[in-house]
Amino acid sequence: MKRNRNSGKTMASGKDNSPPMPGIAGTEWPVMEPGWVWLAGAGPGDPGLVTLHTLNALRQADVIVYDALINQQILEWAKPGAVIEYAGKRGGKPSPKQRDITLRLIELTRENKRVLRLKGGDPFVFGRGGEEAQTLIQAGVHCRILPGISAGIGGLAYAGIPVTHRDVNQAVTFLTGHDRTGLAPSAVNWDGIAAGSQVIVMYMAIKHLPEICGNLIRAGRNPSEPVAVVSNATLPDMRVLETTLGKAPDDVTQSGIEPPSIICVGDVVLMRQCLDWISQSQGQAPRNLDPLGNRTSQDTA
Ligand code: SAH
Repeated sequence: MKRNRNSGKTMASGKDNSPPMPGIAGTEWPVMEPGWVWLAGAGPGDPGLVTLHTLNALRQADVIVYDALINQQILEWAKPGAVIEYAGKRGGKPSPKQRDITLRLIELTRENKRVLRLKGGDPFVFGRGGEEAQTLIQAGVHCRILPGISAGIGGLAYAGIPVTHRDVNQAVTFLTGHDRTGLAPSAVNWDGIAAGSQVIVMYMAIKHLPEICGNLIRAGRNPSEPVAVVSNATLPDMRVLETTLGKAPDDVTQSGIEPPSIICVGDVVLMRQCLDWISQSQGQAPRNLDPLGNRTSQDTA
């Protein structure tokens, strides 16, 4: 057994030689108990966006049941001998049923395994994490939830888009591009969202984009409003398409940009002209130092 340097408690990285968690003053890393499920977010893709709690879980789990969109590099942090099982669901492709995945998790806990259920982004944001955790708890299984960085926030940040900006929005809406039937979301109050939320961040929205953009424009949003489509956000092959609400469906088709993509509607998209830090790190100058046209370095405080 290894010792946690800070707390002096034993870590359950135990029977193998996996390295202990880094010693960070004041932090006691929780120990994964056999028979428990830890439901964790892995962030949007860049391994550096995995939280320390999720890394701690990866180093202790006997079995890791992971979703589509999990970066394989992250799985390499599993302890030696850990069993790694794929249970991904991707829209339109054959995939295991949600019920089967949950039953598998319950079965593993009955075998007294330390189970890590790893999901992309944050497990409670359009990730069915709430449903899975509920079924586990109904079955008497102990759970711990490890939040992650959601693609709709962290992914946009890699594109240089802040989801809130005091000059643009006091509210942000996270929207799914389809409901449980796979069709465009039916229970959404488009008038309410169009009037009430200056910024709309959409997940899984490529397929039904024409319908969604049409709904927003009919509900009063300006067709010339800025839109960004960010695919494979935070990963080396990230692509960003800048367009408008009116042109987005055609531009997406013509550009060939594909899922997984986050789509952001609103004037915060303009901030990318100043905040595209990845292009700047590659030598490009900022396109515009004041994209919203109302801030100088004196009044940004
Ligand atoms: N729980 C996840 C979302 C799962 S739904 C989270 O919090 O991020 C899956 C959708 O998330 C994808 O269809 C896409 O819209 C978005 N997504 C996840 N990872 C992404 C990435 N690296 N780049 C762009 N979009 C991503």
